[in-house]
Amino acid sequence: MSRVMIIGAGGVGHVVAHKCAQVPEVFSDIMLASRTKSKCDAIAAGIRRPIQTAQVDADNVPELVSLIRSYKPEMIINVALPYQDLHIMDACLETGVHYLDTANYEPLDEAKFCYKWQWEYQDRFKEKGLMALLGSGFDPGVTNVFTAYAKKHHFDRIDELDIIDCNAGDHGKPFATNFNPEINIREVTQNGKYYSEGDWVETKPMEFFKTFDFPEGIGPKKIFLLYHEELESLVHHLPEIKKARFWMTFSDNYLNHLKVLENVGLTRIDPVKYNGQDIVPLQFLKALLPDPASLGPLTQGRTCIGCLIRGVKDGKEKNYYVYNICSHEEAYTEVGSQAISYTTGVPAMIGAMMMLTGKWKGAGVFNMEQFDPDPFMEKLNIHGLPWKETIL
Ligand code: NDP
Repeated sequence: MSRVMIIGAGGVGHVVAHKCAQVPEVFSDIMLASRTKSKCDAIAAGIRRPIQTAQVDADNVPELVSLIRSYKPEMIINVALPYQDLHIMDACLETGVHYLDTANYEPLDEAKFCYKWQWEYQDRFKEKGLMALLGSGFDPGVTNVFTAYAKKHHFDRIDELDIIDCNAGDHGKPFATNFNPEINIREVTQNGKYYSEGDWVETKPMEFFKTFDFPEGIGPKKIFLLYHEELESLVHHLPEIKKARFWMTFSDNYLNHLKVLENVGLTRIDPVKYNGQDIVPLQFLKALLPDPASLGPLTQGRTCIGCLIRGVKDGKEKNYYVYNICSHEEAYTEVGSQAISYTTGVPAMIGAMMMLTGKWKGAGVFNMEQFDPDPFMEKLNIHGLPWKETIL
């Protein structure tokens, strides 16, 4: 029986609120707080259990501290934007509340994904006896847990890790992103990077691609090498890994639109003057693009996200693949969201459940692969993200 405060009422916050509400024996009291209270109220209206809502600017630490002090949650589930991470961690430290998020901190003026800033909170969380769980979405999140599970049950040593993220869904719009457009476009337009034999190798955006044959009828699709934040924590906590890469599918249509937007400067994150006003082109573009939450009823098809792992077990080389397939339509029927928000929101709820039930506990700042993967894997099967594994 625990009180929890969810911050952020976007696509992911919508799913987290619905999924926490489905488990009253763990989440006995829920508050959804965000910058725009009407969005919290709209989400609350769609949930059968009563949940409280509040307006908060999570970048304003004193304002957040006073909301936390009045509601007294045991933990915060941060599904606002990566820019808020450090402010929310500061407020957690000040109020003695545990913390969870789904994406690592990024400075507003630089698209740089890196755990450095949040790992620096290690001593402060430890001293206060508080836990911060970083990256409890799907990727990062489930992909870290998949890797820990593979290590625990299938390998004596992992040599190579390929995380492969496929969205084989279609929303019928000429161009839209499935989660926050600003965060999504910053991620895919930066240089790629992968880990090889102790070094990070930088690539141009989308420079490397190949075809991967996805299971269960999804079939072959082009996958592109990107940098993704879980690579940093996974090679840190599993230093035996020699090569780690992240791949994502993109349609030709998406890439063509992105190229044009880049060419005309609309993906820039530095301010430009327009009629005497500073405008950040990417933020302006976000205002023009469809709200990812509005894609729910339109999106058809499935996602398939998994880890392809090569290593050694009992002296023999082994190839192993573990994945989840999630249907956009089924996610929409259950909670009114497409699968991208669903596959992020469900693991955020499960991560919170691990913390509140004491299955995962500790003082300090943690990544998902540092805990026993088994209870989390079990809950994925129960709460809407069943997984499968194959030895190749
Ligand atoms: P949205 O843009 O849909 O939602 C973000 C929400 O945060 C909005 O409700 C927004 O308010 C709110 N917000 C923004 N700034 C503040 C602030 N200063 N104070 C309070 N609330 C604020 O994003 P998504 O739901 O798509 O994504 C949420 C998070 O999930 C992101 O960090 C994203 O990177 C992460 N993510 C992680 C994935 C994973 O697998 N690990 C995959 C996909 C997303 P308003 O409504 O007023 O704009």
